Amino acid sequence: MKYIYRFEEGNKDMRRLLGGKGANLAQMTSLGFPVPSGFTISTEACQAFYDNGNQLNDDTLEQIDQALDQLSTKVGKRFNSPDNPLLVSVRSGAAISMPGMMDTILNIGLNDQTVKTLAAITDNERFAYDSYRRLLAMFGNVVYEIPEDIFDQILEDIKITNHYDSDLDLTVADLHTIVGKFKELYIAEAGKEFPQDPKVQLLAAVNAVFESWNNHRAQVYRWENHIASDLGTAVNVQMMVFGNAGEDSGTGVAFTRNPATGENKLFGEYLLNAQGEDVVAGIRTPQPISTLADTMPDLYNEFVATAKKLEIHYRDMQDLEFTIEHGTLYMLQARNGKRTPTAAVKIAVDLVEEGLISRTEALLRINPDSIGAILYPEFDEEALQQSQPAASGLPASPGAASGQIYFTAESAKAAHDDLEQKVILVRQDTSPEDIEGMVISEAIVTSRGGMTSHAAVVARGMGTPATVGVNDLQVDYQNGVATIAGTELHEGDWLSVDGTNGNLYFGQIQTNDSKVNDDLSTILDWSKQEGDLGVYANADTPADFAQALKFGADGIGLTRTEHMFFKPERLLEMRRLIIAEDAEERKAPLAELLQMQQGDFYELFRLSEGRSVTIRLLDPPLHEFLPHDAKEIAQVSDQLGIDPEYLVRRVDALKEINPMLGHRGDRLAVTFPDIYEMQVRAIIGAALELHTQGLEIQPHIMIPLTGSKAEMSWVRDIVVNQVESLFNEQGTRLKYTVGTMMEIPRACLTADKVAEVSDFFSFGTNDLTQLTYGFSRDDVGSFMPEYIEKGLLKADPFQTVDVDGVGELMKMAVEKGRFTKPNLPIGVCGEVGGDPKSIEFFESINVSYVSCSPYRVPVARLAAAQAKI
Ligand code: PEP
Ligand code: MG
Repeated sequence: MKYIYRFEEGNKDMRRLLGGKGANLAQMTSLGFPVPSGFTISTEACQAFYDNGNQLNDDTLEQIDQALDQLSTKVGKRFNSPDNPLLVSVRSGAAISMPGMMDTILNIGLNDQTVKTLAAITDNERFAYDSYRRLLAMFGNVVYEIPEDIFDQILEDIKITNHYDSDLDLTVADLHTIVGKFKELYIAEAGKEFPQDPKVQLLAAVNAVFESWNNHRAQVYRWENHIASDLGTAVNVQMMVFGNAGEDSGTGVAFTRNPATGENKLFGEYLLNAQGEDVVAGIRTPQPISTLADTMPDLYNEFVATAKKLEIHYRDMQDLEFTIEHGTLYMLQARNGKRTPTAAVKIAVDLVEEGLISRTEALLRINPDSIGAILYPEFDEEALQQSQPAASGLPASPGAASGQIYFTAESAKAAHDDLEQKVILVRQDTSPEDIEGMVISEAIVTSRGGMTSHAAVVARGMGTPATVGVNDLQVDYQNGVATIAGTELHEGDWLSVDGTNGNLYFGQIQTNDSKVNDDLSTILDWSKQEGDLGVYANADTPADFAQALKFGADGIGLTRTEHMFFKPERLLEMRRLIIAEDAEERKAPLAELLQMQQGDFYELFRLSEGRSVTIRLLDPPLHEFLPHDAKEIAQVSDQLGIDPEYLVRRVDALKEINPMLGHRGDRLAVTFPDIYEMQVRAIIGAALELHTQGLEIQPHIMIPLTGSKAEMSWVRDIVVNQVESLFNEQGTRLKYTVGTMMEIPRACLTADKVAEVSDFFSFGTNDLTQLTYGFSRDDVGSFMPEYIEKGLLKADPFQTVDVDGVGELMKMAVEKGRFTKPNLPIGVCGEVGGDPKSIEFFESINVSYVSCSPYRVPVARLAAAQAKI
């Protein structure tokens, strides 16, 4: 079995085997970019390692020897060589990038002897010992699990004693002392010496990387990002080049475009005389990449050209790591860069305009679920005017949020989970250990670090607002106090964070949702051209509908009219209606409600400007409108001027054991036809009003909870008779349709017959799922999480359609319905109508449209296009 591939042997299509980093290093090598030589130990070796009881097998060991030999010959350096010692880095690299989750060790090959040789051949003792202390710290932490803090503390103590500002002030003598102390730490903390043999160092490092695939933080990251746990990681072994070899050396990270905004401008940071982790760890504040043009103009030009070539080659924005050693540029990594959803949209549109990718490729590159995050909340303009920024930092991840602050991932998580608080994680910096706290935070704030710090990268990936590098913030973990510009804050205090401009504000500020920008509009337009599913909104109020129209909705797919009655004056009339004993008593409240409803529908139709609007007649059980306890009963009987005892009797009479299966939907129409008649008059009345003003309105009247053709036919007759009588009264007609919700399994099973009396179908997957699974939609919270945890359900079927069960019924209903009426319009208006995975399935069974909440409209639009492409 071949477990090891030299960089010359691989290419970018071998991600699964070589990991993302390995595949890209190989690709860059074959394209002739300046990549330090090395080899990749494959993910299959990782599998073999686990199969072999967490040990490298003989085959792998033998191949490592061979690869080392080849590398040594190629670069003219060898482990332990007295005149040119080989030093290597060992880095993990999984097939799907997992930033910060796995471990890296640099400078392997240094020991008490080779450090001296390195000092001699570079004529730089400081550099040699600086490299050695880094190896000792990284190796000690990753392999022997000695906490990083203890190493840091030793360094910190020496800096404090000598009043140093930065690591660069450490002298050769200091570094000797540090190396000595670090070695003592090995004995004290791990009971072992630091291994002097480079080969032993290398194998221990490879072992540790393979083991780190299963560490807790990697598991949490995989779980959060739905990455399979059996993929394994590869290990890259690469000749070291040194960014810490002097002031003509350095190291940095860059993105070929701005990863927060998508702006087409090289974006990055570097540090002179520094190595690897210094830039991302946020220990020293890095310089913007543009300043390299002043300090090393030739090298800067070479870097810009290399970055452009890589972007054109990979046809996507690249995330680059580079090192400069004595004025020579080396590329250490190129991969497709992580970006905010806003940047993803802008970059996709720009790449199409630059001719690098096609429209369909652009659409496929954007995750529909992330689109919601583009409609980032902003602080309310007026509320903001009342507040002054307390401090400001780097705008690392856009969006605005308020929350209660916590200083550790654990306390943030506890406040979120146990107290249901909105929390903001405030820290000096973050590390992969903080991931669980970051995931549940509304926003993240750090006092240190740059735009590529761990906090910044992770927050952007999650679409969580973040402000980093806030100089005016100090966090004192020991005493549980944060100080912002002189003001002390404690855990639980409120803070507002604007990650779009980096500002922090004391207290809570109201947030508003922002608008669709031009790039997103372009993506939505292209999606409309590519996709063939209609995307409608579930909207009950003119405000909802107006919002949905801004997001490009084709019209309304569902208005739940019962939601229109939950206003005080309407509730009163509704109650008067419900407790009435006969049709005669119902007349007065019905007349009142007719006026109100007609006004509602008029507004919705007016906004529609002729787009299709589907209005569903009253659905829920009547007793939902009635008072429940003694206090409410006293209040309502007083308002209605009736005897409380009489009201109690009516409430009791309407009470049901199982209301979800009770007197709702068209069952109401069978017993109280006058309610539906009133609603139909209001709908058609409003449409006719606009019709006389010259606006063509297409009302679609929808009947909920149909179970049989007979029932639908009965209710339809009521509707049609009412419409016809109104047409006759007014001497005008217009086009309208009467269709049904498909949300009872029996309706799906007999869809061919139901279609005979329906002008359209609309799947109510909420009820259809409830009735197919027998899961009460209002009670699933008590057991659904366990079903998902125990693997009995892959996903919550109320959020992602259950293709095998509910989906099968839907498929059957579509086929049967279209057997009767080949052009029958069929929609989906349950919760899953806005879910990208479900939309893929709906496209496959020839549904005509989906309808979802206004904020899901753009998500559904893109998902519909992707489902078609
Ligand atoms: C449904 O059941 O899926 C539906 C859209 O109706 P409601 O949620 O109002 O019952
Ligand atoms: Mg329903």
